[in-house]
Amino acid sequence: MSDGVNLFAKQRSIYPRRVWGKYRKLKWVSMITLLFIYYFTPWLRWDRGLNAPDQAILIDMPGRRAYFFFIEIWPQEVYYLTGILILAAIGLFFVTSLFGRVWCGYACPQTVWTDLFIWVERIVQGDRNARMKLDQSKLTFEKIWKKGLTHIIWLFIGLCTGGAWVFYFNDAPTLFEQIIHFDVPWSVGSWILALTFSTYLMAGYAREQVCTYMCPYARFQSAMFDKDTLVISYDKDRGEPRGKHKQGDSWEGRGHCIDCDSCVIVCPMGIDIRNGLQMECIACGLCVDACNNVMEKIGLPQGLIRYDTQSNYEARKSGSSVASRLQLMRPRTVYYAVILSIVGGIMLYGLLMRSPLELNVIHARNPLFVQLSDGSIRNNYTIKILNKTHDDRSYTLTVEGIGAAAMKVEAAGEVQTDAIPVFADSVGEFRVLLAAMPGGSQIRHKIIFTITDNQTKQSYSHESIFIAGQ
Ligand code: SF4
Ligand code: SF4
Repeated sequence: MSDGVNLFAKQRSIYPRRVWGKYRKLKWVSMITLLFIYYFTPWLRWDRGLNAPDQAILIDMPGRRAYFFFIEIWPQEVYYLTGILILAAIGLFFVTSLFGRVWCGYACPQTVWTDLFIWVERIVQGDRNARMKLDQSKLTFEKIWKKGLTHIIWLFIGLCTGGAWVFYFNDAPTLFEQIIHFDVPWSVGSWILALTFSTYLMAGYAREQVCTYMCPYARFQSAMFDKDTLVISYDKDRGEPRGKHKQGDSWEGRGHCIDCDSCVIVCPMGIDIRNGLQMECIACGLCVDACNNVMEKIGLPQGLIRYDTQSNYEARKSGSSVASRLQLMRPRTVYYAVILSIVGGIMLYGLLMRSPLELNVIHARNPLFVQLSDGSIRNNYTIKILNKTHDDRSYTLTVEGIGAAAMKVEAAGEVQTDAIPVFADSVGEFRVLLAAMPGGSQIRHKIIFTITDNQTKQSYSHESIFIAGQ
């Protein structure tokens, strides 16, 4: 309490009623498809040969690799992850500027799991009225078993969700066997538990509160909207003045909204869209289905609530005949499409040109150079050869830019410069001693190390320096 004002608003219980219609169907299709992808993807196999995991999508933390079908990402290539995040963000902005919050209404994990939990609740406890009655009733055997069963199923879904998540980070069949024998490492077990309970809490209890108060996207999504963005709209001109209507009564002098509240009681966010577009609206379209069903029953045209744009509304107001078009090409959508194409193009180019071999060279700093007894100058380097193939390989190291130089490669002992071995899918680290008599007054010489795969003749170069004096 602060100066008599209560700053805490108690969560209002929302009991969305069942609804039928094309947007509800779309939500079922989206929910089933996304859940199927989420739960079954870790079981997809992908043959990468003997020395690599055969899980199609795997983030192998101990092995420090990420596998995505034919793509294999090393820690040095984490910029691909940055690219994917940029693509996801711009893709979301692009879709939002075109179709409003359809991501929230149909594809966001919070929406999908909440929808699933509400479906379970409805199957066990009944539709809206039955659930309200049950909540208000005294503690009876019926209430205990119905509530108990709902929570058990929610927890089971949460467990499957947490279980599926950890499969993305481990070999799914192996981990599944460990789980059924209660033999999982504590780190894996704690992730499963954490995700089980977060799913249970977010989809079972927090629900619309997550979208309204926790999700930052709800706060700034209007920045992506313009007059041509599709949003859920109640046609006030047609609907008002609203009021109850008896069969056979005239529609003269009144609006088509019969104030039945169907659009409100199906809304998973508990809002009344007739009050205008609100931040809470996730554009799920369930109020559209509810109102269309009512309109059909009373013999009026559908679409009193619909997906529409501000431009269409203004066009209708001004009597234009083109009052229901969707303008896809707009400056905003074109910017987003261009950014998407550029980032996507760069990533695709990077993937296509990705070398199975990489070389890193670090010049030793202490000392920068050493003068040998014969007058020549020696510089030391540490080189790292990344063998990204799944076979052991041998390489040849050459250097250019310093004239006749004597080069020695060392690991545990001396290694032949034309037979440097690196195991499959690993990084070989070597010390290189480069001695030369550069002559002249130049102190820093630009040199280029090149490593060549003895089998495929593929090569990779890395620029460095040779320091010949103070
Ligand atoms: S469902 Fe349609 S008719 Fe019923 S209250 Fe909502 S807008 Fe009015
Ligand atoms: S107002 Fe309609 S579209 Fe918006 S959240 Fe509620 S039911 Fe979904």
